[in-house]
Amino acid sequence: MERYDIAVIGTGPGGLEAAITAKVRNKSVLLLGSRESSEKVAKAHTVQNYLGLKDISGADMSKAFVDHALSMGLEITEDRVNAVYSMGKYFAIQGHNDNYEASSVILAVGMTAMKPLPGEMEFLGRAVSYCATCDAALYKGRTAIVVAYSSEDEAEAAFLAERADKVYYLPQYDFSGSFKDNIEVMEGKEPVSIEVSDGKATLNTKDGSIAADGIFILREQIAPSQLVPGLKLDGNHVEVDRSMATNIKGLFACGDITGTPYQYIKAAGEGNVAALSAVSYLQNADK
Ligand SMILES: Cc1cc2nc3c(=O)[nH]c(=O)nc-3n(C[C@H](O)[C@H](O)[C@H](O)COP(=O)(O)OP(=O)(O)OC[C@H]3O[C@@H](n4cnc5c(N)ncnc54)[C@H](O)[C@@H]3O)c2cc1C
Repeated sequence: MERYDIAVIGTGPGGLEAAITAKVRNKSVLLLGSRESSEKVAKAHTVQNYLGLKDISGADMSKAFVDHALSMGLEITEDRVNAVYSMGKYFAIQGHNDNYEASSVILAVGMTAMKPLPGEMEFLGRAVSYCATCDAALYKGRTAIVVAYSSEDEAEAAFLAERADKVYYLPQYDFSGSFKDNIEVMEGKEPVSIEVSDGKATLNTKDGSIAADGIFILREQIAPSQLVPGLKLDGNHVEVDRSMATNIKGLFACGDITGTPYQYIKAAGEGNVAALSAVSYLQNADK
């Protein structure tokens, strides 16, 4: 497996600037995220406070950011990262589609308002999973619940249903899709907590409980402490120093995830610092 110098996770202004700076410094860069940059960029009506791009629409700014990165020879690998593990001298990165390795990592995944459900962390990796593509094989002849936050998750649920006997699909968005018969769509069910006993997982919702062999939670964003085991937080944010270093050697963070103010230029500036710090880290690690 190729081991990149720097893996950048997230393609908002923080991640794109980090990747561009790392590329300028001749590092091999794995840039994981979306070719559409970030919804938080694309959805802004008009942006007035980004240097050099006065009164630009979010959609145009998003295109300018991505075009800049691609014009530098960077590639965006479209994958959602489930977990990052520090292995001492390198990091193992587990994505939905593939696994990756890098000598250092920059987390630029933005902020998620969602907190894990009670019971979610306790049973994660046992009866709770974040990746149907990764774990579908374990559900042959079994039942599963899928809590989905985006229509993009429908393909994952359909894949899971090719293995599982029955899938309960709980969309947390306006559902307008269609599935084959062994997927039961249960709209308007807001999840509240997870319990597991005698090998059965129960999802408690605001109006009743559903039991199955396992529960898949397909959120677009995962809380940083779930993404990187052992990562030190400061409230809801990742604790960093002025070099954007976290408590884990070789792991840096930038953008909204490190704290307020939530601003494009702050995210991009921190991305620049995080990349330069990762470059210094790699130089020192080589000695
Ligand atoms: C409607 C709106 C208008 C705004 N207007 C302004 C404004 O005018 N001026 C201003 O300065 N700021 C504005 N902001 C704030 C600005 O959007 C944020 O501060 C900025 O986008 C933060 O950048 P970021 O790179 O830290 O994170 P984000 O832009 O949130 O990008 C994070 C990226 O990481 C990806 N990601 C998350 N988890 C994973 C994972 N596990 N694996 C792979 N990828 C992942 C996400 O999909 C996303 O693409 C606005 C925000 C909104 C919502």
